[in-house]
Amino acid sequence: MIIAMKRGTVKEKIQQFAAYLEQRGVKIHFSEGASQTVLGLVGDTTGVDEEALRAHHLVEKVIRVQEPYKRVNRLFHPEDTRIDTIGPDGEIRHIGAGYLGIIAGPCSVESREQIVTVAAEVKQAGAGFLRGGAFKPRTSPYSFQGLGNEGLTLLLEAKKETGLPIVSELMDIHHLDAFNEVDIIQIGARNMQNFTLLKELSLCRKPILLKRGLASTIKELLMAAEYLAAGGNGRIILCERGIRTFENYTRNTLDLAAIPALKKESHLPVIVDPSHATGLSWMVPTLAKAAVAAGADGIMVEVHNNPETALCDGEQSLTPKEFGDLMEILQKYAAIEMRSIGTDKL
Ligand code: PEP
Ligand code: MN
Repeated sequence: MIIAMKRGTVKEKIQQFAAYLEQRGVKIHFSEGASQTVLGLVGDTTGVDEEALRAHHLVEKVIRVQEPYKRVNRLFHPEDTRIDTIGPDGEIRHIGAGYLGIIAGPCSVESREQIVTVAAEVKQAGAGFLRGGAFKPRTSPYSFQGLGNEGLTLLLEAKKETGLPIVSELMDIHHLDAFNEVDIIQIGARNMQNFTLLKELSLCRKPILLKRGLASTIKELLMAAEYLAAGGNGRIILCERGIRTFENYTRNTLDLAAIPALKKESHLPVIVDPSHATGLSWMVPTLAKAAVAAGADGIMVEVHNNPETALCDGEQSLTPKEFGDLMEILQKYAAIEMRSIGTDKL
């Protein structure tokens, strides 16, 4: 960070100001011109409040050289981060650093029969993780809200029967205890900037699947991830799930450019959810392929035993057969790119 002091500021005031900054954990490099002094802040500037500096009466200009996200920044961690989970079947599954994570399952857990059947089918097709919402963020209070704790119990049964690790959305920190055996906690688009929730989750050690907000920028997504990492939880998977634009042919607009952008800026794995991005099941395989071709570290796809009767998001859900066909193609894509969908057996 570079701070240009106001012209004519006396040396003594500048020294006091520099001492104040040093207390915030940075070193100061002074550059004294004929009428103006410029301070270069070296080191970790996370303790420095940029807004407050801009408002300071001695400061003319503040220029940021580095991004405000530090822990999730690739500059601070050049290698790709890999997220590992161990399923009850004893297989270690990876997401990132050359491994594609394939997460599949229904939007919501609806019944034991539904979740156990679809879990077996997506596993058979090659999915590495089972998804299923128990607590659902619905636009209307009159829509199906998910089965809550009962949904999690059923999801755990499907986990036990198939051996697949599970992914489910947490909306309220008070539910955290019930997520004890959930392998990856999903933070949905609507909660991406729920900073209280992010701070609480930064204290837990489970991987967090952080979905991009409906109208959030790439930087805002990275800053949300920074909240998790700053509190001590660096096990983060970023998820592009489409953003709001003027286009309404699709439910959202899939921002494919976010994949290389996020991967350039951050070392964290980036996956894509083509289901919520499009809202149209027929478009999902095409965009899943595009996401993998654009460098995504995996996909999360909604799959329902019978999309026509789904209690939530049936229109965007693949049938198990359609998912199986997609997996066959993704296996080929992965092979061409020398990436692996596979797992390491213990
Ligand atoms: C979901 O994955 O079920 C979901 C609600 O997604 P999003 O938060 O991206 O809308
Ligand atoms: Mn859904």
